[in-house]
Amino acid sequence: MLRTKYLFVVGGVLSGVGKGITAASIGRMLANRGLKVSAIKIDPYINVDAGTMNPVEHGEVFVTDDGDETDQDIGNYERFLDTDITSVNYLTTGRVYQSVIQKERSMKYRGHCVQVVPHIPLEVVERIKAAAAATRAQLVIVEVGGTVGEYENILFLEAARMMKLATPDDVGFVLVSYLPIPSHLGEMKTKPTQHAVRALNNSGVQPDFIVARGKDELDKPRREKLAYFCSLRSEDDVIAAPDVGSIYEVPALFERQHFPELLAKRLKLRLRDKKNRQWHHFLQRLHGAATPVKIAVVGKYFGSGNYTLADSYISVIEAIKHAAWSLGARPELTWIDSEEFEANSGRVRELKNYQAVIVPGGFGTRGIEGIISAIKFIREQSIPYLGLCYGMQLACIEFARHVLHFEGAHTVECRPDSPYLVINVNPAQAKNIREDRYGGTMRLGAYRCQLKPKTKVQKLYRATEVSERHRHRYEFNNDFRTKMEEAGFGVVGVNPEANLVEIIELANHPYFVGTQFHPEFKSRPLHPHPLFVGLIKAALVRQQ
Ligand code: GLN
Repeated sequence: MLRTKYLFVVGGVLSGVGKGITAASIGRMLANRGLKVSAIKIDPYINVDAGTMNPVEHGEVFVTDDGDETDQDIGNYERFLDTDITSVNYLTTGRVYQSVIQKERSMKYRGHCVQVVPHIPLEVVERIKAAAAATRAQLVIVEVGGTVGEYENILFLEAARMMKLATPDDVGFVLVSYLPIPSHLGEMKTKPTQHAVRALNNSGVQPDFIVARGKDELDKPRREKLAYFCSLRSEDDVIAAPDVGSIYEVPALFERQHFPELLAKRLKLRLRDKKNRQWHHFLQRLHGAATPVKIAVVGKYFGSGNYTLADSYISVIEAIKHAAWSLGARPELTWIDSEEFEANSGRVRELKNYQAVIVPGGFGTRGIEGIISAIKFIREQSIPYLGLCYGMQLACIEFARHVLHFEGAHTVECRPDSPYLVINVNPAQAKNIREDRYGGTMRLGAYRCQLKPKTKVQKLYRATEVSERHRHRYEFNNDFRTKMEEAGFGVVGVNPEANLVEIIELANHPYFVGTQFHPEFKSRPLHPHPLFVGLIKAALVRQQ
C-alpha cells in the first residue's frame, strides 16, 4: 500500500484569488491521471459550521450528504472531483477547539496542562489523518482558509509544518498568490508574493510551488524572479494562472504546464500515462454551447452586487450551467429582487421575457409577497419554473391562496396565526426554536424520496427513488394534501419514512416543479442534475 500524500494549499497577498478553485483543479488534474484524491477545507473562523452565518457575509452554505453545513469550497471539490465529500473533510477553528475542550473535560489528556501549542495543532493533524483514512485517498489536498501572515490560520500552518517535519516526502505546499498590475505602472509585480513567501517561511513552511494568479500570463523574467527570490527549486515550479473564461478550464491550464508531472515527482505519486478524457469532453460541450437561454432568478436580495449574489447562490448557478451546457445552451442569468414586484405589481409581467424562472432557497418574511405574485404569474402564463426549498414552499402557498381560495394561506415561518398554515413546523423543530437551538438543527443532509410513477419528475430522474440534500426547518402540512391534490397540485415525491412532501409538480403546465430539498447540491459538471435539465429543456421549447 502506498502512503497517503498531503498537499497543503495556502493563500498569499489577498483573499478571493481562487485558492478553492486551485485546490479543486489540482485534484481534478490528478484524478484525470487515475489518482484517488480527496480534499479538506479548513476555515479559520470560530463558528462550528457555516450554518449560522449570513450568506451575504459568508457566501453559500454548502450541505453534504451527511448533513454538514459547510463552506462553498466543499461544493467546488465535489463538482471538480465528482465525488461526495462528508463532514470529516471540513474543519473550523470552532470545531477543533470544541473537541479539544471536550477531550479535556473527559480526562483524555490524563492530567496534563492542555495548551494552544501543541494540543490545537495536534488535534488538526489528527483530524486531517482521520479524513485521509475515511476517504482512503492517495492524495489529500488541504486548503487552509485565509491568507498567510494572518493571526487566524497560524495554528493550521503549524499543524502543516509538524506534518512536513514528521514525513518530509509525503507533504507538499502550494502557495496561491496574486500578482497585481498597478495601473500607473502597467506591469505585473512580484514583490507582494515575495513578501507572502517570507511570511510563510516565518511559520516554518517553504512552498514547493507557487500558483501565480493574475490578469495576464506570466512572462519569463517574472517567472525567474519568483523562482529565485522565493527559493523554488526551478522556475518550472511557478505555475501561471491567468484569468480564464470558466473555472472548469483551470485543470487543463495546469496540465499544459506539466503541473501533474511536477507534483508527482515531488511527492512520489504514481500517475497513469493515459489520461481520462471525461473532463476534456465536458469542456468541449461547454465551449460548444451557443444557444442563449434567458433565466430569471427571483428572490429577496440585499441591495448587493452581482458578485455577492453569485457567491451566495453558487451551487444554483453552477447547476444551471451544467444543465444548459449539456443541452448546447448558454445561460444568461438575471437577478430580480422580488421587492420590486411588491412596489409595483404590474412588473411581474416582465417575467414573460424569460424562458425560465427559478426561486432559490431563503428565509424570513421580506420580499415574500413579491415572490408569491411572481409564482402566480409564472403558473398562469405557463413559464417554466423550478422552486428550490423556499421556492417550493411558496409555490404551495400560492396554489392554496389562488386556486383553492384559502385566503391568507401562509408558512408558519412568516405568519404563525394564519388560518391556513400550508407550510408548518414539526414538534421537534418547534422545540429547537423555543430553546434557541439554531446551530445544525435544521432538517439537514440526504433523505430518501420516492417518486410517483409516470410524472415529469420521475421520467427525468429515470428512477423510482432518489436521495437528495435538505436544509430547512419547515415542511408541507399534510392536512392540506388531499385538497391540494384534488385541485391538480401534484405531490410527486415523498419521503417514505416520515411521509413528508418532497417534490411537487403541476401536470397541466410545461414545467412547474418545486423541491423541498436542494437539487443544486448534487449537480456536477459530469452529471448535470435531471431537474435542472428538465427546466432548461422546457426553456428551450418556450423559445421556439
Ligand atoms: N425558510 C424555509 C425553511 O426553513 C426554507 C429554507 C430554504 O429555502 N433553504 O423551511
